[in-house]
Amino acid sequence: EMAKAASVCTPESMDSEDMLFMLYTSGSTGKPKGIVHTQAGYLLYAALTHKYVFDYQQGDVFGCVADIGWITGHSYVVYGPLCNGATSVLFESTPVYPDPGRYWEVVQRLKINQFYGAPTAIRLLLNYGEEWVKKYDRSSLKTLGSVGEPINNEAWQWFYHVVGEGRCTLVDTWWQTETGGICIAPRPSEEKAEIIPAMAMRPFFGIVPVLMDENGKVIEGNDVSGALCIAQPWPGMARTIYGDHQRFVDAYFKAYPGYYFTGDGAYRTKKGYYQITGRMDDVINISGHRLGTAEIEDAMADHPDVPETAVIGYPHKIKGEGAFAFIVLKEQTADIDHIKEELKTMVASRIAKYAVPDHILVVKRLPKTRSGKIMRRLLRKVVAEQSSNMGDVTTLDDPSVLKEILDAYQKYKEKSSS
Ligand code: AMP
Repeated sequence: EMAKAASVCTPESMDSEDMLFMLYTSGSTGKPKGIVHTQAGYLLYAALTHKYVFDYQQGDVFGCVADIGWITGHSYVVYGPLCNGATSVLFESTPVYPDPGRYWEVVQRLKINQFYGAPTAIRLLLNYGEEWVKKYDRSSLKTLGSVGEPINNEAWQWFYHVVGEGRCTLVDTWWQTETGGICIAPRPSEEKAEIIPAMAMRPFFGIVPVLMDENGKVIEGNDVSGALCIAQPWPGMARTIYGDHQRFVDAYFKAYPGYYFTGDGAYRTKKGYYQITGRMDDVINISGHRLGTAEIEDAMADHPDVPETAVIGYPHKIKGEGAFAFIVLKEQTADIDHIKEELKTMVASRIAKYAVPDHILVVKRLPKTRSGKIMRRLLRKVVAEQSSNMGDVTTLDDPSVLKEILDAYQKYKEKSSS
């Protein structure tokens, strides 16, 4: 086929608002949405964020190890770097194949200057120990980036100190398929401005974040939490949902008229920085206390034997809702009951007694999308015993994980009732 094709292809002139691509969102909600990005604004936004968030300089080798098929790969493997004339690395492996030194071997061999990856991979690598990192020369690295999920403190510190030897700028970047590019990140900023671990912190040029209360009013001041919205349009924003513009309007512009609603919650610190607290639909109400499931996950995240957790809410006769935690252990042979008790104590002391999960179930793996996001929606279905009606699972990385979890849940239930 290639032999038949001409080697020269005249570029097509496009209108700035013609469709550039359509991308289905990760499916953390039930029905996939074909998010539409257009030509000029998206390209401008991808290029500017690539240049300023990562401090890309001419001649740098930019390494974004995301899958090219999701938005991070689109914006920071293809469009942003290429628009800036950068050398962009195409990574096509997993972080542990052929061994857990894979990323750092690539950094050394290609002299990568900016390394951009996902917290899920960092959490995985952290289990294998520092030798796999230290074996390779990482002196080319200048900027490290994290994307896709909240990065917990332990993973941030490991990325910063072990991978970056404490000398690289580490940026936690918050954005979405819908935003086209990074919206909140510690850089750009004044030179040497402080970076707080595991926090996205500062809005990018032209992004005006606001927090909303439950009555749809803008929350002023600092040291406050609310629904994260963006108050004015920016070049990279999605233009529609393919074939369903009304759904686009309903999903993003109806909840808070005049504002783009991100679906995420955020906390504005005393100093005015933004900390993303998780999806708003991952908020649960236990005996009248509203809290994000991410807060409970965070409280458990520092346990040395528990690399990953996912907490969901389930209906509880007395409390309204209760917390149900799924955990993955570093070593399957560990003393499970002891670890569960320790986790409960951690939640009780870091948040409060009411936040302690009623159930903690050990699973081998959590259900994730190909981009590494935990699909809590599926865990909710397991606990609600609606496994025959899982909804869309096309974005699930490995469907066999569902059976594994259902079996573990079944066993747990039988054990608890006996
Ligand atoms: P997607 O469109 O699939 O990339 O998912 C976007 C969602 O991922 C956001 O709405 C957030 O919930 C989450 N997310 C992405 N980056 C971050 C980050 N740096 N910190 C916290 N959550 C993030």
